Amino acid sequence: MDQNVGQYLETDVLIIGAGGAGMYGAISAAKAGANVILLDKSIVGRSGATIMAQMTVAAAIGEEEPDDWRFHLKDTITAGRGLVDEPLAQILCEMAPARIWEMEDWGIGWARSVAGGNHITQAHAPGHDRNRCVYVDFLSTGPASSRTLRNQVRKYDNIRRISDLTVTDIVVEDGKAVGAVALHLESGEPVTIAAKATIIATGGLTSMYNRNSASANMGGDGFALGLRAGAELIDMEFVQFFPIGHLAPRLIGMDPIMWDPFRYKLGGRLLNGDMEEFTQNYGTAEDGKYVVTRDMATYAIVKEVEAGRGSPHGGAWLSFEHIPKPDLRAAFGPVIDRLAKVGIDLTKMAIEVYPIAHYHMGGLRVNDSLTTNVSNLFAAGEAVGGANGANRLSGNAITEAFVFGELAGRGAAEAAKGQTMPDIHDSARPYLEIITNAGARTGDGPNPTSAITELQKLLQQDVGPFRTGEGLQRAVAAISEMQAELPHMPTGGAIAFNQQLGDWFGLRNMLAVAETIATAALARTESRGAHQREDFPGLDEAWSYNQVIRADGDGLHISRGEVRQLS
Ligand SMILES: Cc1cc2nc3c(=O)[nH]c(=O)nc-3n(C[C@H](O)[C@H](O)[C@H](O)COP(=O)(O)OP(=O)(O)OC[C@H]3O[C@@H](n4cnc5c(N)ncnc54)[C@H](O)[C@@H]3O)c2cc1C
Repeated sequence: MDQNVGQYLETDVLIIGAGGAGMYGAISAAKAGANVILLDKSIVGRSGATIMAQMTVAAAIGEEEPDDWRFHLKDTITAGRGLVDEPLAQILCEMAPARIWEMEDWGIGWARSVAGGNHITQAHAPGHDRNRCVYVDFLSTGPASSRTLRNQVRKYDNIRRISDLTVTDIVVEDGKAVGAVALHLESGEPVTIAAKATIIATGGLTSMYNRNSASANMGGDGFALGLRAGAELIDMEFVQFFPIGHLAPRLIGMDPIMWDPFRYKLGGRLLNGDMEEFTQNYGTAEDGKYVVTRDMATYAIVKEVEAGRGSPHGGAWLSFEHIPKPDLRAAFGPVIDRLAKVGIDLTKMAIEVYPIAHYHMGGLRVNDSLTTNVSNLFAAGEAVGGANGANRLSGNAITEAFVFGELAGRGAAEAAKGQTMPDIHDSARPYLEIITNAGARTGDGPNPTSAITELQKLLQQDVGPFRTGEGLQRAVAAISEMQAELPHMPTGGAIAFNQQLGDWFGLRNMLAVAETIATAALARTESRGAHQREDFPGLDEAWSYNQVIRADGDGLHISRGEVRQLS
């Protein structure tokens, strides 16, 4: 192959993914003097989960009532059910207030209570011992966070922003990350980026499930990139499901998980397809209070649908019709008008809900500097595993994107100092060849786009909120079969804008990541936090350790890692 195929770029710090973590990382690396490339497979600063998040950000700023990061840490550790990487969680909670104030200085405009002495308002969220979560406005927190960070990113001449560039592989030389190879889908051209330090800030994996709160680009790329580069993953079995994600009718521009706080606040009734309450059949009578816990709600809905008593789109009804109109308006505020615009009148109709994949607690295993076990390879945001253990507290994920992004950016800039620019023309060649070979493939056979849909269904069914050994074994076997088919899947066609080619790379990553989730879930024979085994109910103290996964030529290796605790 011609050594100069595609473009060849150089940078001190390469940041893969431009959500909250990537943008924060770019700002702090640029502040530290590094030249930065901040790239995204979609549009820089306008894709991924950050811009979709609409609720709360947890930080012990003590504006609403006295608070301390140690209380936040205690709640985070309790929620994580014995698996929290405590030093990482300490970083998360201790550094959170500084990020909240910095974002305030940058003009995010956290909601304020003027009557209460003009302080930042902090709301209560499940699992927190006090009012701790800041927000911007009804459903505007994520868009405001993204806009604020985009405005800061633009101020730095040493940040080069590149949209529509999908990193397909990280290039490693002698155990050191030295850059990446990417595909520019629009032109079909490969791009090589030599970098002194690289940050994976690609977010989570929930679009691997067919019921999810994600955008299409949250397919777990970063975990697969890391795994192939030799990085370790931890806690991959812990996928957080939200019990009453929106299912139908169509909801445009609103957070699919928004119903949960309203259900708690107002008492939303859960009904099956026969319009009958059903949670009492699963051990939790609601007695008119409608406060069944999230895990019970998830279980009851899944079982009711399996029994053929689902709502028309395969979920349960959530009804607020019994709530007086003024109370609905008082609780929903302007949201009620936005719902009306999309034809949802809560006084006259129920909506359909179903458990949806929402967040991933597992991810790349890092040390306190957010470096993986591969030199010069960092991770930030949802791509990092460990800080939330087996279960994440509300509001901790945006905090994690800010805090870990800032820290990883600083660390990567520091690591880049004093290093010479690597020449990766030779080491990038095999990865460039994967792009050119995949693009040249023609012929019949199952195509990657439909295989993604098949995989999503499989994961939802067998590696979803409730798992069994039998289902997990079925999933592991099916994933392995799909992996064997992958090299033969047709991707040929137009060079430019070949979505099937993009999906081939997406599927390659999804299969690698799906294997880690299913394998870890099969191995963990207990139920803890977000990992619920029907055949092993209840937490087993003997399982109080992280599962660590790495890959080599022989496949996946899974081992037990001590949970790091504060001394
Ligand atoms: C609907 C919704 C509501 C939420 N609400 C809240 C909330 O109220 N509070 C809270 O704390 N958390 C919430 N979360 C979770 C939180 O938003 C995320 O965990 C957090 O924003 C993740 O930030 P990130 O920067 O790590 O990843 P993201 O913001 O997801 O950004 C990752 C970026 O990486 C890019 N990318 C992926 N793969 C590649 C590749 N191969 N090459 C190049 N680019 C790539 C993606 O395009 C994306 O732009 C919510 C999530 C969702 C989906």
